[in-house]
Amino acid sequence: MSRLGPEPRGRLSVTVLGTASPYPRPGEPCSGYLLRAAGAAVWADAGSGTMAELQRHVGLDEVDALWISHLHPDHCTDLLAAYNWVVNAREPRRIRVYGPPGWASRFDAVASANGAQRFAEVFDARELHDGLTTDVNGVSLTARAVAHAVPTFGLRAECDGHVIAYSADSGPCRALTDLAEGAHVFVCEAGTKAPQTGHLTPEQAGELATRCNVGQLVLTHLAPDLTRTEAIARARPADNTVASVTAASVALTYG
Ligand SMILES: [Zn+2]
Repeated sequence: MSRLGPEPRGRLSVTVLGTASPYPRPGEPCSGYLLRAAGAAVWADAGSGTMAELQRHVGLDEVDALWISHLHPDHCTDLLAAYNWVVNAREPRRIRVYGPPGWASRFDAVASANGAQRFAEVFDARELHDGLTTDVNGVSLTARAVAHAVPTFGLRAECDGHVIAYSADSGPCRALTDLAEGAHVFVCEAGTKAPQTGHLTPEQAGELATRCNVGQLVLTHLAPDLTRTEAIARARPADNTVASVTAASVALTYG
């Protein structure tokens, strides 16, 4: 197994495991992010291909928690791969998994062939709700219900005063503002080229980041017909109060 570098110590960081929408391409897994701080690793969204990418940075045995923002396939299907890792591990770990209400039984419907173990037995299954706050080895995680076609939860992670926020998939809503307020890094979807319910345009992501005094805006989950260059140009606010606007790339770390 190749690893891309030493694990960041101290300050909270986020490493991109995948950004593609709505299906993976060569070298571009679907949505997935690795949040790390000293002693904590959280795998946020398990889109197709992200588990392979994750293992460049940490082993599954080093993941303290998984966070599934919603049950659209481009955000969750590698949970099946993680299940296979646990049930085949010599020393299985019951990893904590947060997901939308009912997530474990939904996955049971796929894995139940051959009398397989239930997801709630293999994982420490937890359910997200709006306003949930939990601690993972010193990293505080807060869930907010955001505006998408299915129950979806954005994420705000805090450690020693450093904040990284993740929009998940969402249209404009108050919860996104609460998640992103004052974040040092805001990983925000720009999943649509023109305004569309349940997603943001680059302009909407840029306006949100400006309003919330975000330090660094990282655009992700770009619409398939939107290039990184176009997304950055469209998101950069006219008054340039956001320190940095970039587009997420696999294996890059922001913190
Ligand atoms: Zn979605």
